Amino acid sequence: MRALTIEPGHADSLRLDTVPEPPLRDGSVLVQTLAIGVCGTDHEILEGHYGWAPPGEARLIVGHESLGRVLEAPPDAGVVPGDLVAGIVRRPDPVPCPACAAGQWDMCRNGLYTERGIKERNGYAGERFRIEPQFVVRIDRALGLDGVLLEPASVVAKAWEQVERIGSRSSTWQPSIVLVTGAGPIGLLAALMGTQRGHEIHVFDRVREGVKPELVQALGATYHAGSLDKLAPDLVIECTGATPVILDALDRLAPDGIICLAGVSSGDHVIDFDLGRLNRSMVLENTVLFGTVNANREHYVAAAEALARADRAWLGRVISRRVPLDRWHEAFVRQPDDVKVVIEFGS
Ligand code: BGC
Repeated sequence: MRALTIEPGHADSLRLDTVPEPPLRDGSVLVQTLAIGVCGTDHEILEGHYGWAPPGEARLIVGHESLGRVLEAPPDAGVVPGDLVAGIVRRPDPVPCPACAAGQWDMCRNGLYTERGIKERNGYAGERFRIEPQFVVRIDRALGLDGVLLEPASVVAKAWEQVERIGSRSSTWQPSIVLVTGAGPIGLLAALMGTQRGHEIHVFDRVREGVKPELVQALGATYHAGSLDKLAPDLVIECTGATPVILDALDRLAPDGIICLAGVSSGDHVIDFDLGRLNRSMVLENTVLFGTVNANREHYVAAAEALARADRAWLGRVISRRVPLDRWHEAFVRQPDDVKVVIEFGS
């Protein structure tokens, strides 16, 4: 079958390869791939900065944001042929650590987890993939191609779950003003889940016009490009990883506020920073700054429900570009109006 593979650590080594059919050891559920989403992590892998091949192999099949149709499944798999599904990305470490042993591989403590399409396990960007029943998630058939948003939505569902757990340290805390920084797929899905919770949502991005402001306004949220004036959010979901944006969030956070870091910094931007001042404001105002990555099965299920409740036309616009597999290279060339770019593997 055809699959997109790279040699981790080597820039621009991505190619459309012919590879063997997915091995049975990957799982008893056989899935026909319909689409793969492309995200910032894929770009980092493509540039040679991230990603690990399976042990003993030189190349990695990429793709961790999946959508497929079940071709074969054993009777007790929880999915049946024809179901629309996505694959969970992370697998627990083999030790396993206490978090992985409890099914919370997203909170792995020893770093020995593996990730499909990212870390030591082939991904989903082949024409077919196999998967273990416990790592496949069924998607509402009505979602169609929009179901490819499940993986990024799972990461956002985890962010919200963590925020709410942390917020419960005070019996009265409610995030009445929420600021989402960055209007990429993660920021937009964070805004969607915030509006589904009934919060007042503000989204900040540097883009001034186009699909991003339109998508934010369509949610009934407020879009800001440039200045945020005196906005003092109770919660910031930070999706840019940009140092100046994070600093600004720290400065404007309301007492008892929470900043959730969901974007990864490039590391290119080094700044002088007064940690003592941050300590003073965090202690005297009970604020929390925390990071979040990945998602466990419960988050995927929550994300599938959130997507099923969302407006279909809105979700369809988040997928701003669809590229057929034959022209895969176009998917990795960033364009100004891109939100989520998807590679389609056929119908
Ligand atoms: C994926 C996560 C993964 C993380 C780190 C992200 O792009 O969505 O599932 O844990 O990269 O590898």
